[in-house]
Amino acid sequence: MSADEAFVTLATTDSYCMGATVVARSLRRHGTTRHIVVMITPNISEQSRLALKNEFDDVIVVDVMDSEDSLHLSLLGRPELGITFTKIHCWTLTQYSKCVFLDADTLVLCNVDELFERDELSAAPDPGWPDCFNSGVFVFRPSLHTHTRLLDHARRHGSFDGGDQGLLNSFFSGWSVEDISKHLPFIYNLSVSSVYSYLPAFQQFGHGAKIIHFLGGDKPWKSQGNSSGSHTMEQFVSLWWKEYLIHTTPSAPAAQPKQEQKKPQQIPEREAKMKSTENLDSTNSLLAHFSPPSESLYSQPEPTLCSHTDGRQLEEEPRSLEEESRSYEETEVVDPPLGAEGLEGSDATADAATDPRPADAEPEQLEHRRMWEMGQVDYLGRDSFQNIQRMLDRFLD
Ligand code: UDP
Ligand code: MN
Repeated sequence: MSADEAFVTLATTDSYCMGATVVARSLRRHGTTRHIVVMITPNISEQSRLALKNEFDDVIVVDVMDSEDSLHLSLLGRPELGITFTKIHCWTLTQYSKCVFLDADTLVLCNVDELFERDELSAAPDPGWPDCFNSGVFVFRPSLHTHTRLLDHARRHGSFDGGDQGLLNSFFSGWSVEDISKHLPFIYNLSVSSVYSYLPAFQQFGHGAKIIHFLGGDKPWKSQGNSSGSHTMEQFVSLWWKEYLIHTTPSAPAAQPKQEQKKPQQIPEREAKMKSTENLDSTNSLLAHFSPPSESLYSQPEPTLCSHTDGRQLEEEPRSLEEESRSYEETEVVDPPLGAEGLEGSDATADAATDPRPADAEPEQLEHRRMWEMGQVDYLGRDSFQNIQRMLDRFLD
């Protein structure tokens, strides 16, 4: 564990706390050795804070900052983004020597600890204007001096887009021309919208995606996973919900120290990837973009996200469906850590979706519940993600 390096995210509302939870879980699922930290603002509810304390190594309360730049924000069509100035506080985390910031609307698909080999300020191009970097994923060095200079820059020049990205791009203005090692490959910040703006590139390189970014107004927590009208988007949103709802059985007793409790969640990369792709209909799934629909998902070493980077995976024999199904028994759908009030425009969604027992439960249902609670989840049948999603749909309706 490199205790002086950390992944950092930010949540200023209970909804973004849901996103932050997925960031932490997906990082842990892929076995990061770095600390995982969330910055929250004082308005975040006590319930959400407690839930975040279970997921993060550190929960740090920071002041709200707002660009109050309604003109630029209205040009961008995102009046809510002034609050993203709060992100600048990440430079105050001087207990860490180097950090990787991840927006709360990102989903990590494999281990990305190699990002710590990069230096400040490393980031991937913005799909809308590639001479600017996108500030959803960036490597930085906490420093009170830089923090002060950033605030000063904000006061003098504001932000050309009203949010943190405009400010950071004008502060680190040499990014586009100075040092190519500070250009992260696009697969570290793959915005879902880019899939459609350059589909052949996605077909060619998408299997290497490492971090998905739900850039723009449609956040996965606002979605049922089937409302976008596009299969690829649906699959990404489904992966997000899956990460939110499913993680490995915490076999360690609750009284154990936090680090001990977290260890069981670190499952082998290969299994994690299979969880990400299980139950995806091969004709509809992301995989359909990478292989002909007629190819079986399990009959050969299927192309999976991040596959080219995982040495262990390449050495392994492809596993049978039975083996995969056994590995799912280690996983469990648990009550989401955040209360239903975290969901915009819905109530009790996640709790209801993870509680398969109706009020007047039959013995069979009670048995199902018992098995569920023991971690014996029928991922390929009754408890398949499609069924969970159906429950979610019912409650979101
Ligand atoms: N954010 C937040 N509350 C908000 C808006 C944004 O906490 O109301 C944080 C959150 O970490 C989010 C980041 O600021 O991921 C940037 O905002 P967003 O991801 O919505 O912008 P986009 O990536 O869509 O441009
Ligand atoms: Mn974002």
